[in-house]
Amino acid sequence: MPQAAATSDLPLVTQICYLVASALFILSLKWLSAPSTSRRGVLVGEIGMGVAILGTLMMPEIKAFQWIIVTLLVGTAVGVPLAMLMPMTAVPQRTALSHSFGGLAVGCVGAAEYYMRVRHHQSIERFTMGVLSLEVLLGFLTFTGSLMAFGKLQELLPSRPLVYRGQNFINLTLLVIAIGVGVWLTIDPTKQSLFPVFVVMSLLFGVLLIIPIGGADMPTVISLLNSYAGMSASAMGFVLDNKLLIIAGALDGSSGFILSIIMCKAMNRSFTNVLFGAFGQATTVTAGSIEKKSYRSALPKGAAQILSSATSVVIVPGYGMAVAQAQHRVRELSDLLTKRGIDVKFGIHPVAGRMPGHMNVLLAEADIPYDKLAEMEDVNPEMSHTDVVLVIGANDVTNPAARHDKSSPIYGMPIIDCDKARTVMVIKRSMSSGFAGIDNELYYMDKTLMLFGDAKGFVGEMVKALSSGD
Ligand code: NAP
Repeated sequence: MPQAAATSDLPLVTQICYLVASALFILSLKWLSAPSTSRRGVLVGEIGMGVAILGTLMMPEIKAFQWIIVTLLVGTAVGVPLAMLMPMTAVPQRTALSHSFGGLAVGCVGAAEYYMRVRHHQSIERFTMGVLSLEVLLGFLTFTGSLMAFGKLQELLPSRPLVYRGQNFINLTLLVIAIGVGVWLTIDPTKQSLFPVFVVMSLLFGVLLIIPIGGADMPTVISLLNSYAGMSASAMGFVLDNKLLIIAGALDGSSGFILSIIMCKAMNRSFTNVLFGAFGQATTVTAGSIEKKSYRSALPKGAAQILSSATSVVIVPGYGMAVAQAQHRVRELSDLLTKRGIDVKFGIHPVAGRMPGHMNVLLAEADIPYDKLAEMEDVNPEMSHTDVVLVIGANDVTNPAARHDKSSPIYGMPIIDCDKARTVMVIKRSMSSGFAGIDNELYYMDKTLMLFGDAKGFVGEMVKALSSGD
């Protein structure tokens, strides 16, 4: 591996490329923060990455391109089908997989850099060895931690938190020992025998860190792993003396961290609780408990009549709308109701679906105007004077137990206050639970009508009924 040159020694063209790429990354993040500009944000980020790669390939240290071309082809052969074939509902696990590849790459670069310098008897300054240790720790723990997250989200591993007695003590002890080994290596980098121990401890810590987390905390974990991946890349930038890596890693690390805080706030959880609390223990809904309670249901025609006689309707989409890909039918429904003079809004919960902004992406894809989308805190005060709330494939994010049932795994998570509307209609296929594995008391209220069916088919039937004026 060629030793990277200090940024100040870089050819002018590389320096210009790095400057342009840094500016594009910052603009990309800015535009990604609003639905109306997010597509531009993605495009600009991609161009930035292209410019960064181009600038790097122009460095004089890179003398042969054959291996770069081979790895480019292998990466493309894996990446393109991964992006094209994965359904949007699987984006969280795909993201976890990408983080794990990123973490592995960073960890391997750190290990290669260490052995290259030690074997060539090059001195490693304390600062460089310190950040190299940080890079290796974060890189390898992100690798195994993200693989665990992937396994949980893909249901290859139990998605519930796996907890045992003394777990936090064991995790903390392992972390302290790993940091101790890292410090020892920093003081004496020639202690080569410690390096594999350090790597194994980092890999193990990644596994142990993620297995006690599960249920509704998974979105926060994904953004936290995103943050770790960014920080490890930034540390790698210090080791290789590459300013672009430092900038890009810091942007990634800090934005992931900010997103984790936003997600924690949305779920009413503290960071410590997410990391040490084993939230979201899946409780299964027994058939018996469902049978005892009664609920009312309606058919598409009846539901369409109720909608058409309302003056205000709030549509609350959730994971089921994503699974059914019902967003285009939902837009047709919204258009028809709006044409009749009915005030239609969409109530968006921050963790509805399976990834941050999932509902915004789907509704934007169906060209639903942004001014119709209302955040949870904006729509909730309007709920008590809303005629009809139509829940489409959302479950946990509408469950009133989150407000009052201290034994509920979602207790404390803010919800969309659907139960406060005059009439509630819920489209889903059965009385099954959602992600957190718990029953929803909203379904058994007197004012609630269950509309059983696939979201796309059911909304399509309602659109038909409204268009034919039945
Ligand atoms: P949810 O609680 O998982 O409920 C989704 C509901 O959709 C299910 O009850 C299911 O009921 C229904 N459904 C599934 N397929 C359907 C279809 N084809 N047609 C109609 N309905 C269908 O979803 P949510 O209310 O959106 O809440 C999100 C949950 O995921 C939260 O617990 C959140 O913490 C968690 N989570 C979020 C993220 C994120 O970043 N947003 C990431 C990971 C986890 P039936 O089977 O009866 O149809």
